[in-house]
Amino acid sequence: MNDPSRVTQPALSESNDRPSLQQALAAELADLDSRGLKRHRRVLESSQGARVRVDGREYVAFCSNDYLGLAAHPELIEAAREGAARYGVGAGASHLILGHAAAHHELEQRLAAFVGLPRALLFATGYMANLGVVTALAGRGDAVFGDRLNHASLNDAAILSRADFRRYPHLDLAALGRLLAASGARRKLVVTDAVFSMDGDIAPLPELVALCERHDAWLLLDDAHGFGVLGAGGGGTAAHFGVSSPRLIYMATLGKAAGVFGAFVAGGAEMVEALVQRARPYVYTTAAPPMLSAALLKSLELVRDEERRRHLRGLIALLRGRLQLRRWRLAPSSTAIQPLIIGANGEAVAASEALAREGLLVPAIRPPTVPHGTARLRISLSAAHEAGDVEHLAAALNALQ
Ligand SMILES: *Cc1c(COP(=O)(O)O)cnc(C)c1O
Repeated sequence: MNDPSRVTQPALSESNDRPSLQQALAAELADLDSRGLKRHRRVLESSQGARVRVDGREYVAFCSNDYLGLAAHPELIEAAREGAARYGVGAGASHLILGHAAAHHELEQRLAAFVGLPRALLFATGYMANLGVVTALAGRGDAVFGDRLNHASLNDAAILSRADFRRYPHLDLAALGRLLAASGARRKLVVTDAVFSMDGDIAPLPELVALCERHDAWLLLDDAHGFGVLGAGGGGTAAHFGVSSPRLIYMATLGKAAGVFGAFVAGGAEMVEALVQRARPYVYTTAAPPMLSAALLKSLELVRDEERRRHLRGLIALLRGRLQLRRWRLAPSSTAIQPLIIGANGEAVAASEALAREGLLVPAIRPPTVPHGTARLRISLSAAHEAGDVEHLAAALNALQ
C-alpha cells in the first residue's frame, strides 16, 4: 500500500496505451475537418439585419431568422431601454420564486390573445420550451411520435422524456397513422415542426390534427419559423390553416420573426398549468430579463402590421422567379426559408465562400443538421431586404453553377 510505484503504475500504463482525452478530441475534430463538417463562427460586429459588418467587411446577409427585420428596430431598442430602466437588467430569480415580472405576465396574456388560445407561458428559449413540454407531458409508458426532419430540440426532448420515441418519414401521415394505431401507450404525443427549419415546407396541420383526434393523441406544434410570418396578423401556422383544437399545444420562439429572444407555449389552461408545475426547464432556470418582455410587447404591435409580410412574400416570389438552376435544386418552399439543395458538402461550402467574396452571406448547411447528400445553401429572406439585394443574390447564384 505504501509503495508509491503500485499507485503510479496503472496511471503510467494508461497514458502509454490510450490517447489522452485531449488527443482523442483532437483526432475527432481533425476527422470532422477532413470531411468538410467542421463549423466556424463568424464574428458579427454590427446589429443583426439585412446589412451586417463581419470581420471588418460589409455584407448583405441571408442568414438570419429575423424574418421581419425587427431585431434592431429603434422602437424595440427604446422599449428594451425603458424596460431596463424599470426592471433592471437581470430577472434575478426563477419564475416560481420572484423572477416573474409584470412585463412577463402582461406578455403572456398578450401572446395568448395573439394566437387565440386560452393561456400562454413564457420559456427562456425555444429549445427549453420543447424540452419542458415533452418531458412534462410524456414519460415512461407514454409514446412520442416525431417527423424525421424535426428540429433537434424536439428529438432531444423525446429522448429526455424516457417515453417510447418513434420517428416517421418526413410528412408521411400514413406512416404516422400506422404507428399511432399500433401503439398501446397510455398517452400519445405527436411533435412536429410547423415550418421545417432546413426545408421551409409546411406541415399539413388540418390532417395532423384529424389524425391526432382519431388516435387520441396530443399535438405539439413547433412554430418557430411560422409565428409572425404566416397567417393573418402573423398569427402563425395554425392561423394560416384556420385550425384550432383542444389537442393542440402551440409553441413558438420569440428570437426569430419577433426579433428578440425567448419562446412561449400556448394552449388549454390545464395543460399550461401542468407546465408551470412540472416543466423542469421552466421551474429550474432563471427567468429571462423582463426588459426582453418589454421589447416583445412592442414587437407584437409591429408584427401585426401586414406590410412587412407583404414585402417578404414579394421577395420570396422574386427570388424563385429569378433563379435559373442547372445542377442545383430549389426546395419547394413558400416560406422565408429558401433552401438551395447542392448535395456534396464541399460544393456547398465552396458556393457559400464564393458568395461571401461577392459580399453575400448565405450559410452552407451540412449533415448532421440535414440528411447526408443534401448539403445546401439555406437562404433566409427578411422583410429588411430590398428587391435589389435579392436580384444581386439570384444573379450571383445563376453565375455559380
Ligand atoms: C430555433 C428553433 C428552436 C429553438 O428556439 P431558440 O429560442 O433559438 O432556442 C426550436 N425549434 C425550431 C424549429 C427552431 O427553428
